[in-house]
Amino acid sequence: MLTVLILGGTGEARRLATALDGLPGLSVISSLAGRTSTPLLPPGRVRIGGFGGAAGLAAFLRAEPIGAVVDATHPFAAVISANAVSACTATGVPLLVLRRPGWTAVPGDDWRHVPTIEAAADALPRLGRRALLTTGRQTLAAFAALTDVWFLVRAVEPPEPPVPPRMSVLLDRGPFTRDGERALIEAHSIDVLVTKDSGSPATAAKLDAARDLAVPVLMVDRPPVPTHTASVPSVPDAVAWVTRHTTPR
Ligand code: NAP
Repeated sequence: MLTVLILGGTGEARRLATALDGLPGLSVISSLAGRTSTPLLPPGRVRIGGFGGAAGLAAFLRAEPIGAVVDATHPFAAVISANAVSACTATGVPLLVLRRPGWTAVPGDDWRHVPTIEAAADALPRLGRRALLTTGRQTLAAFAALTDVWFLVRAVEPPEPPVPPRMSVLLDRGPFTRDGERALIEAHSIDVLVTKDSGSPATAAKLDAARDLAVPVLMVDRPPVPTHTASVPSVPDAVAWVTRHTTPR
């Protein structure tokens, strides 16, 4: 029986755990960072909390022992992804990155790409005065100095200071609908949307609604995928990789 470690926290990670759970010769451990108080749990064994950096992750890989790692974390979770590369290199454990594609603009979209959250905060006051902010509660500090912008902050967990001085918080995790997103934008007179390019189908409706209502979008581009690492865009591709790389003994 070989054990696959899925670094999770995404819908893809849960779907991968579901697909691998019960396959002959495989056992699956899903790992969550522990950021949310009521996480959506995948089937099978789950561990919650950090490993203690790349060295801690390497120690975990040796102790179990783990036969393959799939980094199915969020595209913006760059630290754990870098740690996975270091730990897998150090231990010789095969690593796959499962990264869904980013969103693609279509005619009618008004997207302004920025490389970082800080760049989004810098550009925001020139684009609007009432922002729907969906970049996550951990990004709010970057917007805390903006006094001319009112924020509707949508997040899974309540944010902690520092936060923008003028804001309301909407606790929600989706999936969202186009009609619902239009209603939200209209109800709050939103004139700019700030989002990360997560590529998630569950949260893409806000982009349709922004296009419908001619609201500009500040799109924070993704950090790069770790180089020299196998990468696939979909859960079925990841299942195929795992079954190739974990030969039952
Ligand atoms: P990060 O900055 O890349 O990682 C920070 C630290 O959190 C890591 O060094 C690691 O601690 C721990 N960690 C992260 N993911 C982990 C996992 N799956 N299992 C165990 N420990 C993990 O990560 P982040 O951006 O804060 O995201 C945290 C988690 O939330 C990720 O699993 C990600 O998939 C999910 N998520 C993130 C976003 C986002 O926008 N960033 C959005 C939705 C979901 P140690 O160094 O102690 O091992």
